[in-house]
Amino acid sequence: MVKSAKAAVMTLPNEDLEIQEFPLPQVDAGCILVKITCCTICGSDVHSWSGRRAAPTPIILGHEIVGEIAELGEGVTRDSGDRPLRVGDRITWTIMDNCGKCYYCREIGLPMKCRYLKKYGHDSCATPPHLNGGFAEYCYITPGTGVIKVPEELTDEEVAPANCALATVVAGWEAIQLQPMENVLIQGAGTLGVYAAALAKHHGCQRIIVTDIVDERLAFVKAFGASDVINTTGMGSDKLVEMIKDLTDGFGVDVAMEVAGVPDLIPVGLKCLRIGGRYVELGCSFPNANITYDVSDIVWSRLTIKGIHNYDTKHLQMGVDFLALTHHQFPFNKIVSYRVGLDEVSKGLRAAHAGKALRVAVIPNKEGVVS
Ligand SMILES: [Zn+2]
Repeated sequence: MVKSAKAAVMTLPNEDLEIQEFPLPQVDAGCILVKITCCTICGSDVHSWSGRRAAPTPIILGHEIVGEIAELGEGVTRDSGDRPLRVGDRITWTIMDNCGKCYYCREIGLPMKCRYLKKYGHDSCATPPHLNGGFAEYCYITPGTGVIKVPEELTDEEVAPANCALATVVAGWEAIQLQPMENVLIQGAGTLGVYAAALAKHHGCQRIIVTDIVDERLAFVKAFGASDVINTTGMGSDKLVEMIKDLTDGFGVDVAMEVAGVPDLIPVGLKCLRIGGRYVELGCSFPNANITYDVSDIVWSRLTIKGIHNYDTKHLQMGVDFLALTHHQFPFNKIVSYRVGLDEVSKGLRAAHAGKALRVAVIPNKEGVVS
């Protein structure tokens, strides 16, 4: 019987992570102990590790997690979709544990902003049960978490990024009420941009225009439904606006989404909208993302701007369902192209930071896995 679990712990930003060992917690009622099989490195893990965004230490980063149920606490019999759960089943779960009772959970419909929020891979691991992040052998799931059984046809690597990247994009398109036949602009061809394009295609959008500054990424996103890709390296905003108008009968796009995490893209993205267009901002999830912008544009052009951070359980479920439905149509299995073991997470973070892969996967039990 396993009594403890290893985890890669960040004690200081930018330093190598430390392998530490924690006792496996006793599994309380309503909780689940999961043996992690894969955790992909999200852009926000890189921001926390690089110090760009503050994180409490010591911390076990990683929140795009998949694993097998090792032990079920009393009373846990079904997942959020009412599917039966058994030991050995493969599950993923929401980035957060929310109370379900506070003002934001109950009255405002923003459980990701719960007043008593706990987030996997975001909170300190100093106190028991310690195992609250993805760069570890085990994770302890608490009762306010949305748990989703993973369909058999999806691999760990296909489903892991659903937990943050895909679910957030699902929430973003929902918030801005994307409609069939609309023309969309997606600023950024990273993992979020790839999912945004595939969802827009599945939704029946017409022009799906994606911008980035890396040709390889733009070539990749074509396989996910992008109809037009534009490398904006060295391009002035007037030129881009002109190109977008040319592609949309002179109107501009109905909807735009920023997923590159580059604040300066926001003013130009807003200029690419038609009158009455909608803009959704997802990328800049770090402080001091300042811009200079003439807001009379918002007034004259009657624009709508929405900010989206994280998601609700239904968005993760929709993301997993979307993958199951379309994984033969879109090459989601190519999003992870770099793999590391638990003792190499620092190397993985550096590779993610350098843009060596759209997603780097941490495989705790990596023997036999070709990286
Ligand atoms: Zn994330």
